[in-house]
Amino acid sequence: MKLYNSATRTKDDFVPNSPDIVKMYTCGPTVYHFAHIGNLRSYIMEDILEKHLRYVGYNVKRVMNITDVGHLTSDADEGEDKMLKGAKRENKSVMDIARFYTDAFFSDCGKLNIKTPDVVEPATNCIDDYIKIITKLMDTGYAYFSGGNVYFDTSRLEKYYIFNDFNADDLDVGVREGVEEDTNKRNKNDFVLWFTKSKFEDQALKWDSPWGVGYPGWHIECSGISMKHLGEDLDIHCGGIDNAFPHHTNEIAQSESYLGHKWCNYWMHVLHLNTNSGKMSKSKGEFLTVALLEEKGYDPLAYRLFCLQSHYRKSLVFSWENLDNAQGSYNKLINRVAALKSTGEAVDENAFNALKEKFVAALDNDLNTSLAVTALYDVLKYNTNDDTKLAAIADFDKVLSLSLIEKADRRREDLKKQAVVAGQFTIVSETGEQDSEVEAKILARQDAKKAKNFAEADRIRDELKAAGIEITDIPHGAKWKRV
Ligand code: AMP
Ligand code: ZN
Repeated sequence: MKLYNSATRTKDDFVPNSPDIVKMYTCGPTVYHFAHIGNLRSYIMEDILEKHLRYVGYNVKRVMNITDVGHLTSDADEGEDKMLKGAKRENKSVMDIARFYTDAFFSDCGKLNIKTPDVVEPATNCIDDYIKIITKLMDTGYAYFSGGNVYFDTSRLEKYYIFNDFNADDLDVGVREGVEEDTNKRNKNDFVLWFTKSKFEDQALKWDSPWGVGYPGWHIECSGISMKHLGEDLDIHCGGIDNAFPHHTNEIAQSESYLGHKWCNYWMHVLHLNTNSGKMSKSKGEFLTVALLEEKGYDPLAYRLFCLQSHYRKSLVFSWENLDNAQGSYNKLINRVAALKSTGEAVDENAFNALKEKFVAALDNDLNTSLAVTALYDVLKYNTNDDTKLAAIADFDKVLSLSLIEKADRRREDLKKQAVVAGQFTIVSETGEQDSEVEAKILARQDAKKAKNFAEADRIRDELKAAGIEITDIPHGAKWKRV
């Protein structure tokens, strides 16, 4: 498998440190508000990576943190504490806010068929792990105490910027709008490992430490949680592209200085979901949630399909029109799967393998999900029996996770129920498509026939024909298709 590695800036062959297990770490959500569908784009694409690795035979151990402490409103070390801000907004305790939005996050993930990682660890659970790392960094001179806080000293590193060729001035905290320079720092990129003195004296969660009562910086939590559960070597670290700097850059700085060796081999970054007015952002407050999509009548899995239709390394523009199109494609896809009938025929192994080869090749090429979706459509068109098609669809859906088989089963059930409601008169769409207007006209034609009003029955048939709908009478019903 080839995976684009932000650290090498090339598509690299993926080779895990150990053949037995792929160790994967994901930056989890900051739980001071609902996740927006941009955040969830990142988690959908990371879910595809994990599932594809499993699909091609790897064992995967995936760990994710929950940022329930320490993430400040700016990506620098200043700004307001996001959890505290959420607690104030809702007049609740920080822990209540964390619990509520963690549950909401996993509920959204469930609706999008995003698998829960093997280990989910709230940052507040691992204070001792951070203290252990920071203590060693202090002992070895990588960290210093200044103005009540412990900072990482970036001047000790030979190479600090890993992922980009940013102009160092652009990254200067002091020149960013609305962010004051922290005069305790020796170097502009130094970052806080442990706060005892921050602007927020009312910071709710504090712990004792060798440097005084305080709380950890944001970056240290991911190094600490990763090492706690995955040890000293990591295969893949994922996150949205905004995490590359400073978060992941700082994670590498502190982890490798602590360990004394390379830490993580592959860095996977998902590009942003944007709206016409720019990046969808949680802190700006203007964001779309899964609940809102549902309220507007969209299936969350149509959003998943929307994400899969484009590559994770391209930014994606959200619009309602784009989502309408994805919902339409999703409905049609389910209808086409529902139109397949299992007759208990043997799976044609040659056809199955040919289809699968194309699917795997797409995902093996840096997770080309849009080609993988094309490979799924190829199954429907392929010249083979329906049992083979259903087997291939169920197989691909282990990775795509669009609930294709379950939804198609439900669609068939719905069609059957409709037939019963219509009084033993069965209306069958040859493609599985549902169209209540067409169905109503077919029923009206049937009523006319029953009333021996054959002129009216013929008129309805002609009307449907003019609209491109062909109907054929079958025992106790009629079938139809678009021509
Ligand atoms: P947060 O909860 O803000 O820590 O973000 C959770 C995840 O969503 C991180 O991996 C971010 O990099 C990612 N993320 C944030 N905004 C977007 C966006 N607009 N599109 C895609 N991913 C995003
Ligand atoms: Zn992280």
